[in-house]
Amino acid sequence: MAIPKFLIERYQFWKNNTFEDYKDIYHQASQSPQKPIAMIITCCDSRILENTIFGGSVGDYFIHRNIANIVPSKNDKVQNIQTLSAIEYALKVLKIPNLIILGHSNCGGVEYSYKTLLDKKNINDFEYINQWVSCLQNSYDNIPNDFSETEKITFFEQENIKQSIKNLHEYDFIDKLINENKLNIIGLWYQINSGLIKFLDNDSFTDLD
Ligand SMILES: [Zn+2]
Repeated sequence: MAIPKFLIERYQFWKNNTFEDYKDIYHQASQSPQKPIAMIITCCDSRILENTIFGGSVGDYFIHRNIANIVPSKNDKVQNIQTLSAIEYALKVLKIPNLIILGHSNCGGVEYSYKTLLDKKNINDFEYINQWVSCLQNSYDNIPNDFSETEKITFFEQENIKQSIKNLHEYDFIDKLINENKLNIIGLWYQINSGLIKFLDNDSFTDLD
């Protein structure tokens, strides 16, 4: 097995520069249990740099990524175990007070799901992805007919964030924490080309700044 050159070079750069600069913070972080200020559930997409966007330092954010940042429904027992394991640890053990669902523009997972749900024949021969994106069916059903294609995709990306938050309420331990004001749920949608972030404000998305 060959270690790619980019990996070695970038690691060495980080070790000799960033790590060196923040050595004390790394050392301190190893001396006590982690205490993140927020859990972020986002997409696997390589263009989402959540730690850069929100100025994350060592131990700040507990991250879970999956295709299209989905929190599956409680009824979907085949699909929900991985994401819910991460949430369960974050809330029950780490007692993280903020849970952020960070969706984004140009989401390949949402777009693929849109195409396949629109035209059942347009399905790739994937072994796993088709089943996973079927979690998006409810959000897809809410897309207004009179929107343009671009508006439909953006709506779908944002509706998926809303649906994921609705799904969180189906889990008793999460719902209880929300009702006791021990957990703050935040829905965010990030536009890659402009850096704009919108947050879910009641039922619609509003600019964060
Ligand atoms: Zn995505």
